Amino acid sequence: MPPTHHEVVIIGSGPAGLTAAIYTARADLAPLVLEGEPSSDSDQPGGQLMLTTDVENFPGFPEGVMGPTLMTDMRAQAVRFGAKVETVKASRVDLASTPIGIWVGDPDAAEPTHTADAVIISTGARSVMLGLEAEERLIGHGLSTCATCDGFFFRDQEIAVVGGGDSALEEATFLTKFASKVTVVHRRDELRASKIMQNRAFENPKIEFAWNSVVDDVLGEEAVTGIRLRDTATGDLRELPVTGLFVAIGHRPNTDLFAGQLAMDDNGYLLTHPDRSTTDIPGVFACGDVQDHTYRQAITAAASGCMAAIDAERWLQSRQCWSTSGPSGAAPARWSPQSSRKSPTSRPVRCASPRSTWTRPPNWPAATRS
Ligand SMILES: Cc1cc2nc3c(=O)[nH]c(=O)nc-3n(C[C@H](O)[C@H](O)[C@H](O)COP(=O)(O)OP(=O)(O)OC[C@H]3O[C@@H](n4cnc5c(N)ncnc54)[C@H](O)[C@@H]3O)c2cc1C
Repeated sequence: MPPTHHEVVIIGSGPAGLTAAIYTARADLAPLVLEGEPSSDSDQPGGQLMLTTDVENFPGFPEGVMGPTLMTDMRAQAVRFGAKVETVKASRVDLASTPIGIWVGDPDAAEPTHTADAVIISTGARSVMLGLEAEERLIGHGLSTCATCDGFFFRDQEIAVVGGGDSALEEATFLTKFASKVTVVHRRDELRASKIMQNRAFENPKIEFAWNSVVDDVLGEEAVTGIRLRDTATGDLRELPVTGLFVAIGHRPNTDLFAGQLAMDDNGYLLTHPDRSTTDIPGVFACGDVQDHTYRQAITAAASGCMAAIDAERWLQSRQCWSTSGPSGAAPARWSPQSSRKSPTSRPVRCASPRSTWTRPPNWPAATRS
């Protein structure tokens, strides 16, 4: 089957991808959204909010909204304006070709499944979990990975945070605004966190530490009722009655697909240009948690999805100035690995560049393509 060509393909269907879909669809770009495939973790159609219950901080919902309802509505809004959504995962991309190649299914197939003039990457991130069976059952029911999102639900309750780095202590300190007691569970007898964060936590009368302890199990059928701790030195087990557990042992962006093709930071987050969604490859944009390790909120992901859609639209428009190819819809009829973006015949000098004013910051990693 020859590849199907699209002006814009969006990879990922969390708040970032679906907002990008709404904006590009309303700009008449008929985007194709590859929404991912069902799974038991955050990497699924609709993204991380499919794992939670009440979302109380997304503007426009004075009574709050269920995470899955919000995502189903965002999807319907994108479809209403003409976005096409496929419940599949991208298995390979060739971001250096013109048009860009995107594979679904067999990544070794000779030809991509889809080609696109522009690609918006919104594959999100996932929290590193403890690997316990109970996590799947209790996430959103007392078990959380986001203090900013869920701390409010634990007013005057005793809860625990697992982790020993800066994020864990930041979450624990934040949670003391609501909880009556926060126990930080850490596998060693000293923390990895910076001294300033440690001092802040040690001085906080609501924070206690369970040293040399790992979470052996999370207790409760329909909601968290406690955790079972195992002493890493003696192997002894004990139960801690808590109504909430925050897992703060790290996040991983879903960027394996782009390894070797796009610039990433040391933790694998995609690098975009300051205040833009543009990446080092023309026509490739990134938005949401896949490029944001700081805010990690639905509203910030949605906002950056809007930026990516506008950046993509303007970039596509700028290509209409190209001297030989005509309007942006006149992409090469067939994808071929030879139709590289560096080829002078397929890429004449364009008359406008959305990044002509951008200058490479001193710490920017080497570009994979120019
Ligand atoms: C339990 C929980 C509760 C939360 N509560 C709140 C809250 O109350 N308020 C708030 O603002 N934020 C909350 N957050 C954070 C919020 O969910 C994220 O910040 C937001 O979802 C990030 O959106 P995103 O679109 O960048 O990525 P994600 O939501 O992570 O979506 C990524 C998408 O990419 C897809 N994908 C990945 N790889 C591929 C591939 N190869 N091909 C195709 N698709 C792919 C996935 O299937 C998914 O659709 C919560 C997070 C969690 C985990």
